[in-house]
Amino acid sequence: MAIKSATATIDLSALVYNFNAIKQMAPKSKILAVLKANAYGHGLERIAKALPQADAFGVARIDEALALRAGGVVKPLVLLEGFFTGDDLAVLAVNNLQTIVHNEQQLQAIEKAKLDRPLKVWLKIDTGMHRLGIYPEQFNAFYQRLKQCPNVQNDIVIMSHLGCADDRTSATTEQQLAVFEALSSTLAEEKSMANSAGILAWPNSHYHWIRPGLMLYGISPLLPNDASVSPVKPVMTLQASLIAIKAIRANETVGYGGNWQSTSDTTLGIIAIGYGDGYPRHAPNGTPVLLNGRRVPLVGRVSMDMITVDLGPAPKDQVGDVATLWGKELTVAEIATYATTIPYELLCNISRRVQTQYALP
Ligand SMILES: *Cc1c(COP(=O)(O)O)cnc(C)c1O
Repeated sequence: MAIKSATATIDLSALVYNFNAIKQMAPKSKILAVLKANAYGHGLERIAKALPQADAFGVARIDEALALRAGGVVKPLVLLEGFFTGDDLAVLAVNNLQTIVHNEQQLQAIEKAKLDRPLKVWLKIDTGMHRLGIYPEQFNAFYQRLKQCPNVQNDIVIMSHLGCADDRTSATTEQQLAVFEALSSTLAEEKSMANSAGILAWPNSHYHWIRPGLMLYGISPLLPNDASVSPVKPVMTLQASLIAIKAIRANETVGYGGNWQSTSDTTLGIIAIGYGDGYPRHAPNGTPVLLNGRRVPLVGRVSMDMITVDLGPAPKDQVGDVATLWGKELTVAEIATYATTIPYELLCNISRRVQTQYALP
């Protein structure tokens, strides 16, 4: 009897399919594929190497960029949070890392630095999300200082980030685009605005560089209530085996805190995956798990290493059978809705002890 411990199988042909689908949505744009947080849990280097057609990769932290360089990735790499201290600048220059600039401290550090070669900079404007970025009224001064700075390459990319692009009915995206246009339309620089939701729902946001993350991994970036059919295919399938099957009587409670009670005689299945693997602890009773072609409900609290499902009376399932927690037939977005979170968080939370297998194209 073979038992499968928590395993994420990564379908690289689905990844390439998604990349091509994204390319078709924005045929004139270059693609910065976003690989932060271990490529949304899919494996940083393996995903980078499976996307030779990407024009650049985006990461959040220097360590992620250095891991890609150490793995032999030579493509342009962009730090989407920028650098954190002036000491980082030498590392950026030596490793040919591009950086976002979003505040005065960063600009001063670049102006003061002594670098062997100029850096490529993406200037980030806060067009309304109010997270990173300079205010529109700061734009002209920042732009001029960057243009005059010998430590900065002449071709600056002007960028911003959309806060509500997942909601087709929100007026915010058009407002953000209007602010962006007003500042940048007369400049010949390259521009970038769109994350996955922008790519899918807001063609006006495409500009020269699109920045897909979630959609590359096969998840629709639009709100769960958006009725449109997802144009991408899930890349990750998360699975684990049944390691025990047992009958229980009616009116018995299950798991920590006994927060689920059987209403009739039934059979429990114990599956070897828990929050220690990244399965969400907040998944409630009734969250579906795929097993032998049907959906069975989670019952009782998610433990660190196990979950319990209700197999019903007289099931045919056997110890060793493989359950799917999410994948193509049961999407991570659906599980995220049960767990009152978003698919991004579930994917990033896949932990180190989960075995990752790559299915080649
Ligand atoms: C994470 C990130 C993206 C990708 O967002 P998705 O919604 O996953 O497509 C794009 N741009 C920036 C600046 C980001 O931080």
